[in-house]
Amino acid sequence: MTRSVFRFAPSPNGQLHLGHALSALLNRDLARAAGGRFLVRIEDIDPGRSLPTFEAQILDDLGWLGLDWEKPVRRQSEYLRDHERALDGLNRRGLIYPCFCSRGDIRAAAEEDGPKDPDGAPLYPGTCRDLTAGERARHITRDDPYVLRLNMAKALAAIGAPLTWTEISESGREVTITADPAAWGDVVLARRDVPTSYHLAVVVDDAAQGVTHVVRGKDLYFATAVHRVLQALLGLPAPVYRHHRLILDRAGKKLSKSEGAESLRTLRGTGTSPADVRRMIGV
Ligand SMILES: [Zn+2]
Repeated sequence: MTRSVFRFAPSPNGQLHLGHALSALLNRDLARAAGGRFLVRIEDIDPGRSLPTFEAQILDDLGWLGLDWEKPVRRQSEYLRDHERALDGLNRRGLIYPCFCSRGDIRAAAEEDGPKDPDGAPLYPGTCRDLTAGERARHITRDDPYVLRLNMAKALAAIGAPLTWTEISESGREVTITADPAAWGDVVLARRDVPTSYHLAVVVDDAAQGVTHVVRGKDLYFATAVHRVLQALLGLPAPVYRHHRLILDRAGKKLSKSEGAESLRTLRGTGTSPADVRRMIGV
């Protein structure tokens, strides 16, 4: 029997907070209970936001929490060729296209009360889906910035069967969930300055590392539908998923690095112990 593989995959664009501690500890505890492996992966595909200082602090905080993981850690930025190869394969099958719209263009083109994606953003109305070769060439000649989008309808037709995933509930029960990838529309798979998206990199890297169990926050529950589409298109195995509760701040909002949630580093500085952290997040 193959051993289960779990991973904690932070982005080095800020310091860890209690939400990350919950995710990291859950992954390690579940890996331990299953006699499995525990990996840490650094999701640093965005060169504009990732900093080596944050990576060092993240690993230091995880060590302080009492975790240990297999070395070396995988840095996504060192495997961009794998992501490019996956993208090339989709391109050869005519499943992706360049989109030259700015965010403002999309807001302007999307109807006020029109459809939203599961994150609440206006659904991309497909403006660039059927540009002629000439129109595309004109944009490229002008050096207009663009992103690469998945043609979701075409992708789903190519897969040709409904997609599901196995979700493990908090009580440990396995439930089959029907994925609804169409709700996301034509998702972005790469940008000119970032040659892969979160969606593409996470799917390619989980498969490359043999991850069998993806344990992450509930905020990524609906994105799993997109990940299942990419796994099906790229012929990659589907891990089982467990989307855990989120740690909320006093206002009832999800803790967020960008909104200055109190970091583990700050807690450490004020004498909080790893055992206190576990008590605070209930693991
Ligand atoms: Zn567009």
